Amino acid sequence: MKFFDKILIANRGEIAIRVMRACRELDIETVAIYSSADTNSLHVKYADEAFPVGEAHPSKSYLNIERIIDIAKKSGAEAVHPGYGFLAENYRFAKICQDEGVIFIGPRSKTIQAMGSKIDSKKMMKDAGVPVLPGTDDGVRDIEDAKKVAFEIGYPVIVKASAGGGGIGMQIVNDEPALEEAITASMRIAKSAFGDATVFIEKYLVKPRHIEFQVLADEHGHAVHLYDRECSIQRRHQKLVEEAPSPIMTPELRERMSSAALKVAEASAYSNAGSVEFLYSNDNFYFMEMNTRLQVEHTITEFITGIDLVRQQIAIAAGESLPFDQSDISIRGHAIECRINAEDPFNNFSADPGKISRYRSPGGPGIRVDSGIHMGYMIPPNYDSMIAKLCAWDSTRIEAIKRMRRAISEYIILGVQTTLPLHYAIMNSPQFIEGNTHTHFLQEEHIIKTLERYKRDEEARMQTLAGSFGQGKKVAAITAAVNVYLQHQKE
Ligand code: ADP
Repeated sequence: MKFFDKILIANRGEIAIRVMRACRELDIETVAIYSSADTNSLHVKYADEAFPVGEAHPSKSYLNIERIIDIAKKSGAEAVHPGYGFLAENYRFAKICQDEGVIFIGPRSKTIQAMGSKIDSKKMMKDAGVPVLPGTDDGVRDIEDAKKVAFEIGYPVIVKASAGGGGIGMQIVNDEPALEEAITASMRIAKSAFGDATVFIEKYLVKPRHIEFQVLADEHGHAVHLYDRECSIQRRHQKLVEEAPSPIMTPELRERMSSAALKVAEASAYSNAGSVEFLYSNDNFYFMEMNTRLQVEHTITEFITGIDLVRQQIAIAAGESLPFDQSDISIRGHAIECRINAEDPFNNFSADPGKISRYRSPGGPGIRVDSGIHMGYMIPPNYDSMIAKLCAWDSTRIEAIKRMRRAISEYIILGVQTTLPLHYAIMNSPQFIEGNTHTHFLQEEHIIKTLERYKRDEEARMQTLAGSFGQGKKVAAITAAVNVYLQHQKE
């Protein structure tokens, strides 16, 4: 079924290619846009047509609404897919698309606007009977009021930007004397990052799990969930490893959480793909926010459900009804995603853009790699540091972990520092293997110790890698992979 003739992808990198892949399978022509930093990027080559959109800085290219609409019209694209990031959660962009007669592949502008405010969406969900964390109902206006609320809910509390995203502007406050300064800092950061200084306070959970539900809703009032993902392994409140389903999920908890997720979709008259994020602690869960777009980690949901989320997004935007009911959707096996960032995990995750001098991606059964990089590619310093997503699927969680270790051992990325060694440490950590994760997992002693072992020098790291893998044939296999790696390292 052909839903559109031509779609413009208002994004770059791996997610632009991911959307184009769905389009190619649907016989839909694709239009890429690219900044001056992306002239040689893969998404430009993959598309049927490509248009320059401006200078490297996102505000002058991937966020230039007027220019993007102009290109959509000029190229004859009937719809725009925003990917994630950039304009994906910009309600003005969705509205302008609509006004200009270009279909925005995502929820309605009004829904994006309502969910874009953490304060308003929390209020809406509280009214709909979805559990939320205690805190201020509105933005903080008066420091004495804020102190009163914080005292009532009890420290620690977290100060968050209402318009926030990417973990930016969050401040954890352990006691009253630190509150005022945290609020001021959070307001300042929120103002400069989001143009809106509104902040609020909520109870801070010390070691919660981040569990989210994927939902899909069509424009005719049908909504389903596509089960859960756990995204507790984070650095700076940003996800690094995700898995589906959550290792702690039980039928009873899933029933409770998925009903809440569908209630969120219903209360917001949702359409298209979205994710409902919860924090989980001591058998309780709390609505945190809804992301009104495709998530980075949609890949693992695709693995366990067999449903192509981008294809569904396009079909929904074309006015199609969902082709399945809740009872048609089941899950099979377990999937894990490791975000490969060009960052130095040994140096506080500082970004490490540059040229990729050697590149070989893994393959084989149950492996999926989504990336926009290749040998010789120059990673521009202007954008997010995520360069690839490595996903592994297998019939059980432990087998998926082992498959992920195998894939990491095959993955060669030289020329820049990446998070690959850290992922190897995580996949070998007994706590992770037990499913014992929480949002402060990476700050725990055991991971730091494993990382320090890796840090000594590259060769010792590789030996550790081989040694920690196990015995016999596995060691031989990984040692061979390590030797290839070291060989390239010397060249
Ligand atoms: P953003 O929109 O900036 O990504 P979120 O509200 O989605 O922010 O939260 C991101 C992460 O921050 C969560 O996954 C969690 O690790 C942490 N976090 C947010 N709120 C709380 C809270 N009340 N208690 C503990 N951790 C929190």
